[in-house]
Amino acid sequence: MALPKSESQYAGHEVTSAASWMERREVVFPTVSRVAVCGGTHGNELSGVYLVRERLKKKKLTEEDDLVSVVTVMSNPRAVQQCRRYTETDLNRCFTRATLSCTVTDKTPYEIVRSQELNALLGPKGSPDAADLVCDLHNTTANMGLCFIAYSDCDWICLHIFRYLQRQMSNIPVRFIHFDLPLNEAYSLDSVGRHGFAMEIGPQAHGLVRSNILSAMQDGVQHMLDWVRLFNSGTQFEGGTVEIYTMVKNVHYPRDPETCGLSAAVHPHLQDRDFCLLRPGDPLFKTFSGETVNYKGTEPLYPFFINECAYYEKGVALSLARRRSIAIPSIRSERDRKPRRCMTAEETEEEDETEESEEANGLWNGE
Ligand SMILES: [Zn+2]
Repeated sequence: MALPKSESQYAGHEVTSAASWMERREVVFPTVSRVAVCGGTHGNELSGVYLVRERLKKKKLTEEDDLVSVVTVMSNPRAVQQCRRYTETDLNRCFTRATLSCTVTDKTPYEIVRSQELNALLGPKGSPDAADLVCDLHNTTANMGLCFIAYSDCDWICLHIFRYLQRQMSNIPVRFIHFDLPLNEAYSLDSVGRHGFAMEIGPQAHGLVRSNILSAMQDGVQHMLDWVRLFNSGTQFEGGTVEIYTMVKNVHYPRDPETCGLSAAVHPHLQDRDFCLLRPGDPLFKTFSGETVNYKGTEPLYPFFINECAYYEKGVALSLARRRSIAIPSIRSERDRKPRRCMTAEETEEEDETEESEEANGLWNGE
């Protein structure tokens, strides 16, 4: 069975059809009641590890109030204990439909067994029982600031949370990276939730913790949970436009044809310039013998994950993305029938239609 990828998977009920502009649409979603905050999926990315440890120290496994239930998960405790990215295979590549359904034997790598445990705890992936929102915490050695990484460019919940963080966090750039993969091929832990994203923050070397990066992650998680509580209590979030970066391709390191070893490093003009436009002809690498290798692509694109330490094992030097503007609709939860925000005069017209369509949605749901 083909798994739904886009709106059918992520969307709530559209209640305003007359508006021609996406930003003037209003979409009503079920509340985001069950949230998972996961860290240590990569055992040497220490901001998430320490954030999760602190949460577990202060609270029980599940933090619950009348607006949201939050479960905190140390995803790969064995790798955390060894302060390694993984022990046998990369856990954050194990959440495809195929890996989650494979038969476990004595010889199955630990991370595959663990991915199935996490899928039982937070999923099952693609099912109505899955957690409403999975936020998985990561660090990068690249100078990327705070990035959401997600598989959909039309998951309005994730995009609204992203925009909320962008507005709340003034001391770190907040961006959204979109990997255009169908749900059954989506390989990372966050894909287990009904909505989900990785929160990737850098620069921070693996195996150490920088206070400013940990603080940014703590702020990011707090703002995300604030947003969820506001949303669940009936706050309406206005539509608008956001910019996202859609992954286009990876760029590999040049290699010595004889030894197959690396023959160049990221060029100093490119190092640390994540999300600065790379134009054809711009410096890409500097070979170990001192020559500059330029970008030969024909399209200007935005580099990210520049010189990420963990990608040396795959020979990936950086990734390239296309920047796009996405219109997002207004959203609110179906917890309250009336939005709490005061409507402006030009919006009251739409509000009338909203009420009528919402009745219909109630009937379709049979709830
Ligand atoms: Zn990671």
